[in-house]
Amino acid sequence: MADLPATARVVVIGGGAVGASSLYHLALKGWTDCVLLEKNELTSGSTWHAAGNVPTFSASWSVMNMQRYSTELYRDLGARVDYPMNYHVTGSLRLAHSRNRMMEFERVVGMGRYQGMDVSMVSVSDLKDRYPFLETHDLAGGLYDPYDGDIDPAQLTQALAKGARDLGARIVRFCPATGVRRDGGEWIVETPQGEIRCEVVVNAAGYRAQEIGAMFGRFVPMVSMSHQYMLTDPIPELEAWSAEQGRKLPLLRDVDSSYYLRQEKFGLNLGP
Ligand SMILES: Cc1cc2nc3c(=O)[nH]c(=O)nc-3n(C[C@H](O)[C@H](O)[C@H](O)COP(=O)(O)OP(=O)(O)OC[C@H]3O[C@@H](n4cnc5c(N)ncnc54)[C@H](O)[C@@H]3O)c2cc1C
Repeated sequence: MADLPATARVVVIGGGAVGASSLYHLALKGWTDCVLLEKNELTSGSTWHAAGNVPTFSASWSVMNMQRYSTELYRDLGARVDYPMNYHVTGSLRLAHSRNRMMEFERVVGMGRYQGMDVSMVSVSDLKDRYPFLETHDLAGGLYDPYDGDIDPAQLTQALAKGARDLGARIVRFCPATGVRRDGGEWIVETPQGEIRCEVVVNAAGYRAQEIGAMFGRFVPMVSMSHQYMLTDPIPELEAWSAEQGRKLPLLRDVDSSYYLRQEKFGLNLGP
C-alpha cells in the first residue's frame, strides 16, 4: 500500500475510469503532483461492470467531441503506456424506425463529418448487407458509425493508472476520503491513513459522487440506476458467419426499441 503524501496539487477521489482518466490527463499536462484516492481496489465501482461499448454518436456537439477523442485515445493508449488492452473497433449500425429518427441521424451525420468523422446514413438494404441476421420490415434506414466498438473497462482503467503513475502521479488504494475541510485557501482531505493538503479536489466517486459533494456542502444532482445486460451461449450460425467473414458483427443500437446487441465471442450481449 502506497504511503499517503502530506500535500498534493490535486486530489482525485475515486479510482474508476473517470478518476484514472483525470489523473492521467493531469499528468500528461505536467500536473504530476497529484494523488488519486480509491477506497477499495481500482475499478471496483461501476467501471468493473460496464459492457464497455465505445460510441461516438451523440446529439450533443461536446459529448460527441469527447467520445471522438476517447476513440482516438484508446487506439494507441495500450502501446503508449505499455499496457495491452482488448479494444475492438467493430463499427455500429443505429436503426431508425421512422422518418423522424432518420432526420435526427442526418443532423448527427452532419455534426460528425464536421468533426472529421466518416459517419454515414444507410438504406434498409445496406443494413441487411452489413448485418445479415437483421429483420428489416419495420425500418426506415439507419446510421453507420465505423468508429464504434468495445473496450475492456478494467484494462482501460489500469492502463490509464499505469500511464499516470509512470508520469509521476500517485495512487493510494484502500484509502477512502472520509471528510474535507477548508484551511487557508486550500483543502484538507481526511482519510483513515491521515490527511492531504491540496489546491483542488476532483470528485470522481461515480454513484457515490453525491456523498463526496455533501462533504463540500454541495448537492450533486444525480440518481443512481441499475443497469443489467445478458449474455447468450455461443450461436452456431454466428460462429459460422464470423469464420467466413473473418470479423465480428457491427454493434447494433436500436433506440426506438431501447436495446443494444453486441457480438461477444460467438454469442450476443443484449443490454437496455
Ligand atoms: C452493467 C453496466 C453496463 C454499462 N455499460 C456501459 C457501456 O457499454 N459503455 C459506457 O460508456 N458505460 C457503460 N456503463 C456505465 C459506466 O460503467 C460508468 O459510466 C463508468 O464506469 C463510471 O465511471 P466512474 O469512474 O465515474 O465511476 P466508478 O467506476 O463507480 O468509480 C468510482 C470509484 O470511486 C470510489 N469511491 C467512492 N467513494 C469513495 C470515497 N469516499 N473515497 C475514495 N474512493 C471512493 C469507488 O470505490 C469507485 O471505485 C455501464 C454500467 C453498468 C453498471
